[in-house]
Amino acid sequence: MIFLAHEVKYVTQTIEKIMSEWSKNGKKNFTVRVPKSHRVKEFEMLLKQMLIHYQVPVRAMVQEVTVEIKCRCGYTGEARVSDPESVIRILCPNCNKNNGRVIVGKEIEIL
Ligand SMILES: [Zn+2]
Repeated sequence: MIFLAHEVKYVTQTIEKIMSEWSKNGKKNFTVRVPKSHRVKEFEMLLKQMLIHYQVPVRAMVQEVTVEIKCRCGYTGEARVSDPESVIRILCPNCNKNNGRVIVGKEIEIL
């Protein structure tokens, strides 16, 4: 349960967006696209728990998306996402450094 804390901030932000869509447009089905750089399983579990907790009558499906980078070494493509516990999470598979700019999968999207 300790590491559930990592995604709390993102889950809270996501729920705020979902609730505002729901109260404005009555939208009930959401797809939340979460980049692999997040702890996706943890995110999903927390999101479901918090929706129940806040009694928001919506369905939210979590979809994992790949992270792509454009690296200074010239590499462009899918990044290597390291162990969830390490500080640097996104690495270039070519030069093994964190010199890349994220071009796909930068942040959580709600559809
Ligand atoms: Zn590189």
